Amino acid sequence: METLLKYLKLQEKAVPIAGGDINQAFRVTDGQQDYFLKYHPQMTADFFQAEVDGLAELAKVVRVPQVHENGSFEDAAYLLMEWIEPGEGDQKDLAKDLGRIHHVKADQFGYAADNFMGLLPQRNTLLDNWWDFYFTNRLEVQIQLANDRNRWTKRREENYQRFKKWVYQQWGDMTVEPTLLHGDFWSGNTFFDTKGQPIFVDPAVSYGHREMDIAMSQLFGGFRQEFIDAYQETFPMRAGWQDRILIYQLYYLLVHLNIFGESYGDAVDRVLALGQV
Ligand code: ADP
Repeated sequence: METLLKYLKLQEKAVPIAGGDINQAFRVTDGQQDYFLKYHPQMTADFFQAEVDGLAELAKVVRVPQVHENGSFEDAAYLLMEWIEPGEGDQKDLAKDLGRIHHVKADQFGYAADNFMGLLPQRNTLLDNWWDFYFTNRLEVQIQLANDRNRWTKRREENYQRFKKWVYQQWGDMTVEPTLLHGDFWSGNTFFDTKGQPIFVDPAVSYGHREMDIAMSQLFGGFRQEFIDAYQETFPMRAGWQDRILIYQLYYLLVHLNIFGESYGDAVDRVLALGQV
């Protein structure tokens, strides 16, 4: 807290960082060292604690910023980390490091604690069956939220039920291993340091089907074909992974529907329509 106070006082020296769409992020300095400070006025300390726990999980196999301090100050939650100067790197190295994350295995799907997807709750109750986990803990938690926010129509619910049945018919028997996931793997949550080493930030970890991270990487761009090629070389995916990309993107699209509203409605509906065959 004392450290934070010091940095907040230095705010005229703090440089706002663009790119994060959730928190206020700053580069701050104490005159000797630079830090990366994130804070959120409406969240409690457990919000960043979940991020710190996720970073610690990833740190076992890849490089993440070192956490200096986190907690709450007045009504704001904050997280103070090592500043890592961004540089250039090779997407092949990024793919290899993502593969390292995906080689960390667990016995069940989920995670020891619930966490957050952006600002929204992410439920991680442990389950043995992948599709049960995906539908109940991922899609249906967001659908409930969409319903609360008046973004879930009767037609969407009908299409969703058909879609769910169709997914179980298509892939219900598929064996899926629970592997560690970054969980929010879009291009804004990874960069390279000045030595070209990949850095992973802002995770929403759990153990799940690793194609979830691949699906997220393909949703908003920023990853080149060589990234997918290198990932396939390092840790090949089961045949048909391209057909499952949309199935997994639905989770992230629902999250965006809940955060940003109906502008994501058409994209959600297009995925739900896959079950209409
Ligand atoms: P938010 O939670 O608001 O989305 P992020 O943690 O994603 O914030 O950070 C926003 C941006 O800041 C990232 O896209 C990344 O480019 C950059 N960044 C994140 N962590 C660091 C760090 N420790 N050092 C330097 N830049 C960082």
